[in-house]
Amino acid sequence: AKKCGRDSVRRFSWSLKDALVQRIELIKDLRHAISNQEFYLVYQPIIDSKGSVVKFEALIRWQHPEKGLIPPDQFIQFAEESGQIIEIGNWVISEAKKALIDIRRVYGDDVQVSVNVSPIQLSNQQGGICVFLESLLTDPDGLKDAQQKNGLVVEITEHLLMNLDENTRKALLDFREKGIQVALDDFGTGHSSLAYVMNHDIDYLKIDKSFVQKLDDESSALSLCEAIILMAHKLGVLVIAEGVETQHQVDLLLGYGCDYLQGFYFSRPISLEQALTYQQNKVI
Ligand code: C2E
Ligand code: CA
Ligand code: CA
Ligand code: CA
Repeated sequence: AKKCGRDSVRRFSWSLKDALVQRIELIKDLRHAISNQEFYLVYQPIIDSKGSVVKFEALIRWQHPEKGLIPPDQFIQFAEESGQIIEIGNWVISEAKKALIDIRRVYGDDVQVSVNVSPIQLSNQQGGICVFLESLLTDPDGLKDAQQKNGLVVEITEHLLMNLDENTRKALLDFREKGIQVALDDFGTGHSSLAYVMNHDIDYLKIDKSFVQKLDDESSALSLCEAIILMAHKLGVLVIAEGVETQHQVDLLLGYGCDYLQGFYFSRPISLEQALTYQQNKVI
């Protein structure tokens, strides 16, 4: 909480120093995190309007040997700044592909795993088909091609579409060409518009949780969600609402024709083991 007065100035400079030290330490520690097997993925179910599980979003966690569990919001940015996100991102994809095989065994071959992809992973490729795309398409274990049946969905943030470089533009075209589905994450938080969605062959829009959470008490949020869903459908794009926590939100969103729901109301992100035995039992 921000407070005025002299004390806040002193505290600010201390916490700024702390933040810098923390940043340097984390970037250093990130170097060994993959080889030390400190990362793992958790999975959050995404539910359709009939109450069935249709996807799981893979979310990274870092079990730091001294600092304990570190959520992605506290290290992804540093990994992006240091370039380590490339290696981490490739690890996420290979892990998600392995999980997909188990998940499909339980939920059937239409279920997908959605992975978060940093803009840097798309812009940092060296010509031709990027390593990243390659990793989506090939299967290291010689198992059935994970992508052949649209196994993975790539989640990008809408900020990415607003400053497209050549490589990213190319990557998005490659996705289209290879039939890799794309979800636009955090929709409504940036300044992009549905025009971007139209121009870039996006498959899903994810309404940001900040809007979903306002559904309970702000009528402007109601109109906004309704309008997003309406226009997305006109463009042939399916809508996922994230951060759904209450039955009331479920009712409103489904009333507006929202296609998919994701949030604590249905499940927190869970281990793969838990995901494989998850029973969706909420009334839809
Ligand atoms: P995101 O992609 O928008 O993911 C949704 C976040 O909302 C997750 O936080 C999830 O745990 C949380 N969430 C889900 N349902 C609810 C709910 O009902 N209420 C509330 N309050 N929160 C909910 P998480 O796991 O801490 O991830 C934070 C962000 O870190 C993600 O936001 C994503 O941008 C990034 N991230 C996570 N995993 C990866 C990854 O593997 N690679 C990259 N590049 N980024 C990742
Ligand atoms: Ca996401
Ligand atoms: Ca999001
Ligand atoms: Ca986010």
